Amino acid sequence: MNEAKKARVFSGIQPSGDIHIGNYLGAIKKWVDLIEEHDSIFCIVDDHAITVEYEAKKLPERTFEAAAAVMACGLDPSSDNCTLFVQSHVSAHTELTWLFNTITPLGSLFRMTQFKEKSRNALAKILAKESGEARSTVLHELKNTGLQTAEAIEALRPRIEALVPEADEVDEGLLAALNDGLGSVMQGLQVGLGVSGASTGLFDYPVLQAADILLYRASLVPVGEDQEQHLELCREIAGRFNKKFKKRIFPLAQRVPGEAPRIMGLDGKQKMSKSLNNHIGVLDPPKLVEKKIMRAFTDPQRVRREDPGRPEVCNIHRLHRFFSSPAQADELDEGCRQAAIGCGDCKKILAGNVNAALGPIRERADYLKAHPGDVIDALDQGAARCRTLAAQTMDEVHEAMGIGSKALHRFCK
Ligand code: SF4
Repeated sequence: MNEAKKARVFSGIQPSGDIHIGNYLGAIKKWVDLIEEHDSIFCIVDDHAITVEYEAKKLPERTFEAAAAVMACGLDPSSDNCTLFVQSHVSAHTELTWLFNTITPLGSLFRMTQFKEKSRNALAKILAKESGEARSTVLHELKNTGLQTAEAIEALRPRIEALVPEADEVDEGLLAALNDGLGSVMQGLQVGLGVSGASTGLFDYPVLQAADILLYRASLVPVGEDQEQHLELCREIAGRFNKKFKKRIFPLAQRVPGEAPRIMGLDGKQKMSKSLNNHIGVLDPPKLVEKKIMRAFTDPQRVRREDPGRPEVCNIHRLHRFFSSPAQADELDEGCRQAAIGCGDCKKILAGNVNAALGPIRERADYLKAHPGDVIDALDQGAARCRTLAAQTMDEVHEAMGIGSKALHRFCK
């Protein structure tokens, strides 16, 4: 590995099921492009994956599959600039997280939008266990009553306590949320209730993310716009550490410029996601890809074959822009507007082009699955390099913070 002064890139992907074409177009393709010019470190983030419900027995298989899939998509750890490893194989990630926890204000974490969203999901799960009537009453109160004052919360408290078994936790979370000035009682209630269903690890997720990046002193992070808030926190932590301990150990990492395409799911409504079951896996067999595309949502106003369509609102057409040639996509655009082509034919063409693009990826994945040693060797080598880089950073961190055996030995000399 050439350790010369190339800007270092860090990014990670969760081992949480199929890698889909949204991951491929939105992240992995960009990673592959970056390898040429940068020292690129990519990580399968299993420590992040365990912050929500998961099956421990299945995690090694998912970790292997995620590594094989990104390698099949073109990430080549044997190339000079590319390192691929599994997060939990380098224990310094979790150690640095703890050290960063000691300088990260609680309020900074309460501001994180992603935590609020995930907490709300946890709240939804709690409410989903309740009877339909109780659930809809509380949701109605949360949404529609004048929840503008602490008195309003007090008025709701008996119902909340009746619905959520860990009433003390609700109070704690609620108070913390309100004390941190979340801006509205509505948000306070949602976060406060959600906290009782979310783990501390989920709450601390952005600090682990900062540790992932800063452990390798990466200056560039290829992530979507939705991660900008976490990256801002990463810069806050780096700046606070450097200032507090009077050493410039960490860079202020920036998002890699340029828009990562946001790939919508086959429902045409939400971002493509395995959990929403609106995805096309990069390793889905051709027949399944075709089946999924044939069922996909299109322009809702194109009800009959003779109705002119609006490709600009149709997700099938958006996908044509990624998988079909520009000339073919233009031709289909025109055909749709003139009702010269039906949705069935348009989808069949897309399915053919998607399958043609995914064919070499499937072949490479099949090869890697038949030769798991190739994947394991690449991950082991990646982890070995990362442990060396991480040890250099941790030495400086320990020295700056006055912890670790070296600092004590120095004192005793
Ligand atoms: S013809 Fe194609 S682009 Fe037009 S609405 Fe149907 S699927 Fe969408």
